[in-house]
Amino acid sequence: MAPGSSLPYDIRVFGDPVLRTVASEVTDIDGKLAKLADDMLVTMYAEPGIGLAAPQVGIQKRFFVYDTGEGPEAIVNPVISESSGEWTYVEGCLSVPGLSWEIVRPKEIHITGYDLHGNEVSLEADELLSRLFQHELDHLDGILLIDRLDDDTRKTAKRTLRERFLQLDAPKQSETNGGLRLP
Ligand code: ZN
Repeated sequence: MAPGSSLPYDIRVFGDPVLRTVASEVTDIDGKLAKLADDMLVTMYAEPGIGLAAPQVGIQKRFFVYDTGEGPEAIVNPVISESSGEWTYVEGCLSVPGLSWEIVRPKEIHITGYDLHGNEVSLEADELLSRLFQHELDHLDGILLIDRLDDDTRKTAKRTLRERFLQLDAPKQSETNGGLRLP
């Protein structure tokens, strides 16, 4: 994000250790969380993106916002309880800007959690929405797209990512690499 940006948050990009931590459960669904969701949505729409997880703005909480064209939504403490099928889709990530890969994931999932009013949410999702939920939930577990690639693709992708995101700050980043789950 350019200096002087008026967005509430900068999106953290590959190499930032916050993207590699496991986020903790949200304990209070309150006005503060609703404000955070609003700010995250502003940031998400500006990119533009269709989903944004709290760790992507530096907040280690199990929470994400999304909008696939049917209005803004949020899921707090999401859990995928069932998954089935297989679907290949070219997937990108706001934390890995400009890159995308074909990734195979379950096609359908059942996700549960809470909305911003504290009501239970239980959704069956297919294809794009299912993909979005799986992607955002990965962020809550410190998992990035690169972890979902096959070995050969990952080798090439790692090189590309290092060149693009880690080069400018090599000494500092090599320390944080200890936290990256890269083989
Ligand atoms: Zn992402």
